[in-house]
Amino acid sequence: MTIQVPKTALSHRVEDLLRTERLPHVWCPGCGIGIVLQAFLRAVKDLEAKGVINRNQLVFVTGIGCTGRASGYVRLDGAHTPHGRPIAYAYGVKLGNPKLVPVVFSGDGDLAGIGGNHLLHAARRNFDLLVIMVNNLNYALTGGQLAPTTPRGVYSTTTPKGNPERPLDAARLVAALGANYVARWSIHYPVHIEESIKKALPRRGFRFIEVLSICPEIFGRHIGFRTPAELYERLRKISKVRKPKSLEDIKYDWDEEITLGVFVDKDEPGYMESLCERYNYSWCDELPEKRWARK
Ligand code: SF4
Repeated sequence: MTIQVPKTALSHRVEDLLRTERLPHVWCPGCGIGIVLQAFLRAVKDLEAKGVINRNQLVFVTGIGCTGRASGYVRLDGAHTPHGRPIAYAYGVKLGNPKLVPVVFSGDGDLAGIGGNHLLHAARRNFDLLVIMVNNLNYALTGGQLAPTTPRGVYSTTTPKGNPERPLDAARLVAALGANYVARWSIHYPVHIEESIKKALPRRGFRFIEVLSICPEIFGRHIGFRTPAELYERLRKISKVRKPKSLEDIKYDWDEEITLGVFVDKDEPGYMESLCERYNYSWCDELPEKRWARK
C-alpha cells in the first residue's frame, strides 16, 4: 500500500530527503535506527543550507540488515548492496567517479561482522569515505544471533548460556588503524550525532561514526527487557561521554561502561590524494572533500 503524505506547513524539515511514498517503514516500534537516520538527514540539510555540500554528489550506500533498509527511504542516489559489501561498493563509487562522496550507513553485523575485512582496510588506507555504523549489538534482522559486537556474557539466540567471546570494539579498532575521524555516540545523544556527522561529512580520509542503538524487539526482548524504554534506560546508564586518555582507555563493557565521545579528529590526506601524488589525474583538483572542508 502506498501512503501519500500531503505537503503542509507541518511537514518535517527533512521530508524532501525521504521517499515518503514508501512509508510506513519496516522498523519496529521503539527501534533506534530512525534517530540515527534523522540525525544524518538533518546534518545534510544543514550543511547544504550553509553551502558546504551538494546533495547531488552524495551516494548513500547500505548493506543488508535492519539498518541497511534505510537506503529504500532516503531520497539520495544510493544502493542497497550485498551483505557485508557496502564499503567495497563505496570504493567502486569513489574510484569510478572521484567527484562523488559515498556515505555508508549500515549495521554492526554488516560492517564489523560480515564486512569486517573491508572496514579494517578502509581505515588502514584512510580511504575517503564516511561510515555511519548503527550498533544494535546483535544480528537483528535474522533473529538475534551473536554478532562480534555483542557484549561478553550477554545472551543471544546462538549463545543461550551467554556470549563467551570478547566483543569487537569497532571504533577503537579503526582509530588504531589510522582513520581521520572516529566518534561513538548512543541514540541518547541525537544532537551530538548530528554535530559529528556535520564535522565528518565534508572531510577527507576515512571517517567512522558508531552509534549504539536499541533493538527492543529482538535483542531487548530476548534478554528480558519488556519495553523499549527499559532497554533505552539500561543503555543510557552505561553510555558515558568522556575524553579517553588513550585508546586503551576506551571501554566497551556492558556491565560497566561503553565510552562515548570523539576519539580521533585529524585531517591527514586520504587515499585519493595519495593516488594523486603518484598519478596526475585530471580530477585531482576537484575532489569534493578538499573543497568542502575549506568552506
Ligand atoms: S529487529 Fe531490532 S533493529 Fe530490527 S527493526 Fe526491529 S527493533 Fe529495529
